[in-house]
Amino acid sequence: MSTHHQAYVFALEPTPEQAQALASHCGAARFAYNWGLARVKTNLAQRAAERTYGLAEAELTPALDRSAYGLRKQWNAAKHAVAPWWGANSKEAYASGLANLSVALKNWNASRTGKRAGRKAGFPRFRSKRSRRSFRITTGSFGLDGAGNRHVKLPRIGRVRTGESTRKLARHLHRGSARILAATVSHRRGRWQVSFTVEKTTPAPAPATRGGAVGVDLGITHLAVLSTGETVANPKHLEKVQRKLRRAQRRVARRRGPDRRTGQTPSGRWRKARAAADRLHTKVVNARRDHLHKLTTRLVADFDTIVIEDLNVAGMVANRRLARAVADVGMGEVRRQLEYKAAWSGRRLVVAERWFPSSKTCNDCGAVKAKLRLSQRTFACQVCGAVADRDANAARNLAGLAEAASSPSCGARINEPAGNPRKPSLAGDGYRHGKTPPARAGSTPRRKATAQGTFSHVS
Ligand SMILES: [Zn+2]
Repeated sequence: MSTHHQAYVFALEPTPEQAQALASHCGAARFAYNWGLARVKTNLAQRAAERTYGLAEAELTPALDRSAYGLRKQWNAAKHAVAPWWGANSKEAYASGLANLSVALKNWNASRTGKRAGRKAGFPRFRSKRSRRSFRITTGSFGLDGAGNRHVKLPRIGRVRTGESTRKLARHLHRGSARILAATVSHRRGRWQVSFTVEKTTPAPAPATRGGAVGVDLGITHLAVLSTGETVANPKHLEKVQRKLRRAQRRVARRRGPDRRTGQTPSGRWRKARAAADRLHTKVVNARRDHLHKLTTRLVADFDTIVIEDLNVAGMVANRRLARAVADVGMGEVRRQLEYKAAWSGRRLVVAERWFPSSKTCNDCGAVKAKLRLSQRTFACQVCGAVADRDANAARNLAGLAEAASSPSCGARINEPAGNPRKPSLAGDGYRHGKTPPARAGSTPRRKATAQGTFSHVS
């Protein structure tokens, strides 16, 4: 038995009045956030000014309590004056805005003092009406609404109809194998949704049916290629949306967009085309994610060890090529899904080091090509003459890493149960790769690569 957190997301179909109430709650969260941020800013500026006058630290205006609890206390004292309408929304809305602010301030402070890894977290900024609308509920009466499995309960707002059945979660709640901890309501691309954070209890992991290791190479043309030789194709409807998306992107490119250098504002037609392309992009990503879920569930059920490539998640943002970006979403997503699914079912996930040349290495002799263009779909080795499909060759190279990763010296990552599966850690956690080539009859002896070393072909 083990417990983990899991999210259950349901699209909402609120009545117009309910939609207005949901928007009002999001506005309340934003108001409290901005109110708190203004206070913190004033306080910091005041203390900085006092320091320039040479006041001792003890004589300065005291620093504000920036904890969620502290901010909430200050809000409760001030709300009657600054927001006499506060009673219109659940107190949870204000509390969630202040909790977010507290986290943002904590991240900024930790980043500033070098206690936080990863990209620098800046000082929180005021949220505009165009910012993402959301609020979180952690206490009070909320959850699924008993009868019919088609409604959720939200404080102040009441029973809201869902776009799909809540049966799956309801069954777990009924059985006592799940407990709802929090709910986040948000508005995304024209739609309201609720995401329940659920603590789930799962029985002991099931034994592997096929066992062994599998290498997974994710691509653009195919969803994935496995080292077993199996190709998981892109589903037809996904390809169709991808074609539409490319067309929509071209339309955006032809219209007058914003230009920061010249200060040119985007045209109304550009905005419209942009919104249409965004909607399609969401659709592609969602369709892909859905199919990846099916793939990862199957991989975890069938194999003991799963080897995937590392990917530069932060670099995704800088990537301008669309097809690449769509595929990258798949790669980041596949890792996220495998990380928690492997942890839940006691499987091992190996993540190849970022610079492991999975595509450029010959799986037969281990020779590494200096260059292999993305357009070259076949891998032809100049050293031993082996010819293989580019992706299948890469997948087999990845599978080979599973063996190297089992040796204790190489420091491979055995799946680490992530605290929150929806928030993958971006910290570098690859491992020094090595390869133990499978013994093949009739092949010439090769230099055995050590787990620590990068291997190259010896002629
Ligand atoms: Zn070769």
